[in-house]
Amino acid sequence: MPHHSVDFAAYFQTAPPTLLLKPDAPRFTIVDVNPAYLQAVNANPEDLIGLGTLEAFPDNPDDPVTQNVQSLRNSLIRVLNTKVQDILPSQKYDIPVRGTDRFETRYWKATNSPIVNDAGEVVYIAHVVLDITKAVVTAQEERFAYELSEARRRATEQMEERLRLAIESASLGTWHFDAITREFIVSPRFKALFGFSQEETMTFDEAIKQVEEGYQGKISKGIELAFSQGEIKDLEFPVIGRNDGQLRWLRSTGRLYAAQDGKGANFSGTVMDITKSRLDEQRKNDFIAMVSHELKTPLTSLNGYIQVLQSKLEPQHNSLVTTVLDKARKQVGKMIGLIGGFLNVSRLEAGKIHLEITRCDMATLLKEIESDISIDNRSRHIVFSPVETTWMNVDRDKIELVITNLISNAIKYSPIDATIQVTCVPVAHDSVMVRVKDHGIGIKSEDQPHVFDRFYRVENRQTTAVAGFGIGLYLCKEIVERHGGKIWVESEFGQGSTFSFCIPFRPATA
Ligand code: ADP
Repeated sequence: MPHHSVDFAAYFQTAPPTLLLKPDAPRFTIVDVNPAYLQAVNANPEDLIGLGTLEAFPDNPDDPVTQNVQSLRNSLIRVLNTKVQDILPSQKYDIPVRGTDRFETRYWKATNSPIVNDAGEVVYIAHVVLDITKAVVTAQEERFAYELSEARRRATEQMEERLRLAIESASLGTWHFDAITREFIVSPRFKALFGFSQEETMTFDEAIKQVEEGYQGKISKGIELAFSQGEIKDLEFPVIGRNDGQLRWLRSTGRLYAAQDGKGANFSGTVMDITKSRLDEQRKNDFIAMVSHELKTPLTSLNGYIQVLQSKLEPQHNSLVTTVLDKARKQVGKMIGLIGGFLNVSRLEAGKIHLEITRCDMATLLKEIESDISIDNRSRHIVFSPVETTWMNVDRDKIELVITNLISNAIKYSPIDATIQVTCVPVAHDSVMVRVKDHGIGIKSEDQPHVFDRFYRVENRQTTAVAGFGIGLYLCKEIVERHGGKIWVESEFGQGSTFSFCIPFRPATA
C-alpha cells in the first residue's frame, strides 16, 4: 500500500485513544497525543507531551495490588526488542486527577505497536488504549447483585428448612387457606390430626365437619374476627378423627395475609395437639370439684352446729364463749366462701354455669349487699353512693357475687380504716356501671392485665399475707362477660385500685 495516499495526521486526530511515544527507553517520552486519549484520561496536551510515559502515569500509591508501571514498561521494552505488537491484558490503571493527588478508578486494555521505518528501526511506539471501565464495573455490579441474591436465596432456604424442622419437631400441623378460592392446603401432620389418611383429599368444609358441633360456630367466628384483626389467636376446639373416630383437642393459631400482587388474601397457620394437657386439666378440675363438694357438706353442718350453739348461749351472755363462737362462724363462713368459689370455677370450666335471668332492681340489690357487708365488716369505711331505681334482667345471685367479690377484695387489699367507695350508675341508656374504689395497695401496671386470669395472684410482700386462690376475679370476669358486659381495673401501685364493670340492662341472649 503506497504511503503517501494516507493522511496520517487526519487519521491520528480521529483514531482511538493513542499516545505516540519515542523509543527512548526507559523514558519513552510522549511525543504526541490525540483528542480521544486526552478525553479518556481527562488531561490537556501540555500535561503529557514531553513527559516520560511513566512520569505522566505513575502508579496509584493507594492501590497496592497493581503493578501497572512495571508491566507497561516491560511491554514497551518487548516491543522495542521484538518489533512486534504487544497486547497488555485488561488491567486496572487508575489515572491521576490532574491538579490533585487523587486517582480515578479506570480499567484499560492497551496495545503497544511499533512504528518501523524503511531501515527496520522502531521510530515510534503507538500506545493505543481502550477504556473498559464501564464494562468492568457493570460486570462487577452484576456479579455482586448475583452473589447478593444467591446469599439471600440461601438464607431463605436455610430459614425455611429451620422452620420446617421446628414445625416437625413440635409436631405441628400447618394449614393454608385461600380466602377467595377457598383452596385449602394442609400438611400431612394436619391431616393426621383430623384423622384423614394421607391419600384422602381434604377441603376446608370437610375439616370443619370433624370439629365437634358446638365449636364449629366458634371457628367461623374466629376466622371472621381474623379478617378484621389479621390474626387467629389460640382457637381451641375438639375434633373427632374422620377415620379413627378419636377425640383430639387442637389449638390453632394463624395469620391473615392481605391480598398482594395478583394473589388473593389468605390465611396460614398451625395446629397443635393439646389433648394431653386438656385431659390433665379436666382431671384437675374434676378433682377440685370433688374435693370442694366433699368439704362443703361437713362445713355446712359445722356452720349449722355453731349457729345452734350461738342461739342457745345468747341468753347467758357469756361474752368469751359468744365471741369465740362468733369468730368460729366467721372462719367457717370464709371457708364456705372459698369452697363455693372452687365449685363455681369447676362448674364454669365444665360449661355448667347457666344464667338464671330474673328482673331485679340494682338499688335494692346494692342496699342488701350494703347491709350484709356492714354486719361482717366494721373495720373499713364502706361508702355506698345512692343508687337510682334501675330495673335489669340479670342473674341476680351472680351479679351479687361479682359485687361482693370486688368489695371483699377491696377490703382484703387495703389497710384497716381505709375508705372504700361503691357506686352504681346507668350509662349510655342501656347499661349500668358498678365501680368499687379502694385506697389500698394497688396493682402494678404489668400485673393489671392478668388479675382476671384463673389462679393468678400478684406476688409481693403485701399479698402473701392475704389468703386467696386467685379465682375471684376470674369468676367475676366470666359472669360479667356472660351477661354481655365487660370488667376492667384502673390502679396505681401504692395508691389504690378501682374495679369497674358494665352490663347491659338485658343480656343479648335473654
Ligand atoms: P384472690 O383470691 O387472690 O384475691 P382474685 O382473683 O380475687 O384472687 O384476685 C387476683 C389478684 O388480684 C389478687 O391476688 C391480688 O393480687 C389482686 N387484687 C385483686 N383485687 C385487688 C385490689 N382491690 N387491690 C389490689 N390488688 C387486688
